[in-house]
Amino acid sequence: MKDVLLKVNSLKKYFPVKRGLLYRIVGWIRAVDGVSLEIEKAKTLGLVGESGCGKTTLGRSILRLIEPDSGEIFFKDKQITHISTRSMRRLREDMQIVFQDPFGSLDPRFTVSRIVGEGLRIFKKLRGREVKERIRELLEVVGLGGDAINRYPHEFSGGQRQRIGIARAISLDSSFLVLDEPVSSLDVSVQAQIINLLYDLQQRLGLSYLFITHDLNVIRQVSDDVAVMYLGKIVEAAGNEELFSKPQHPYTRVLLEAVPVPDPGERKKRALLKGEVASALNPPSGCRFRTRCPHVMDICSQKEPLLIEVAPGHSVACHLVSGQS
Ligand code: SF4
Repeated sequence: MKDVLLKVNSLKKYFPVKRGLLYRIVGWIRAVDGVSLEIEKAKTLGLVGESGCGKTTLGRSILRLIEPDSGEIFFKDKQITHISTRSMRRLREDMQIVFQDPFGSLDPRFTVSRIVGEGLRIFKKLRGREVKERIRELLEVVGLGGDAINRYPHEFSGGQRQRIGIARAISLDSSFLVLDEPVSSLDVSVQAQIINLLYDLQQRLGLSYLFITHDLNVIRQVSDDVAVMYLGKIVEAAGNEELFSKPQHPYTRVLLEAVPVPDPGERKKRALLKGEVASALNPPSGCRFRTRCPHVMDICSQKEPLLIEVAPGHSVACHLVSGQS
């Protein structure tokens, strides 16, 4: 039986588009449009999709860094969707985020001591030697020497800065981390080091991750389960092995085909994803992928496909696959 840490039901987040002198609302960007998912304890759910598909908004809405418009979020069996800002602040000790940009996410005016120790001082009420010792311990855990404590972010490489961000994220003994493109801005060799570090921390501390990325190669390496997002919706979700060996949704298939391969002959045979993601301000009727889908049918513009389980633990939102009518 699944040991679920976080569950999301039908989560929605729309952003208003305002225009004119009176700044009237002329439309809504449907960034997250009815997403449901589960993350098990000490497991990683990889959330993959192209830029602009809503995955970052989804991650931030789950942490309530952005307030969702509707839907439900359960964390450790407790409904947290509407709890007060004060209660959420306490809960945030247990739910942290690592940002994509290790340069922009660390305040350049502060030393590592202040960056990593801020939460320890505010939430854990640690002071003096106690806080310094804990910071040094955390820096060792993420592979930085304790002597990093009095240095500033600009003195570190991108990979080292990401380690500082991770030390900050685990400083409060959280059980859940949203990792928002944590390796996308790093060189491939450094990416591997950070991925290994995250895996090691998960094994040691029993952490659960929502790992957000546009990179299927990374998702394949890090995830236990995978959810594929397109224009605000999950279009396919399955275990890692199942998704990569038996992808069913045309979008997932094309994404997999687009993963770079070293053999030029093989590259020529592969289908490429055509066109841009449609606008979340005015998404296509029916299936949102229909404007790019190589298998589009009449029904695809008329009826929105539901996310339906087509094999145990494998769900797909496509008329072609599930025979919805
Ligand atoms: Fe393609 Fe239709 Fe399936 Fe959408 S529902 S992915 S358009 S076949």
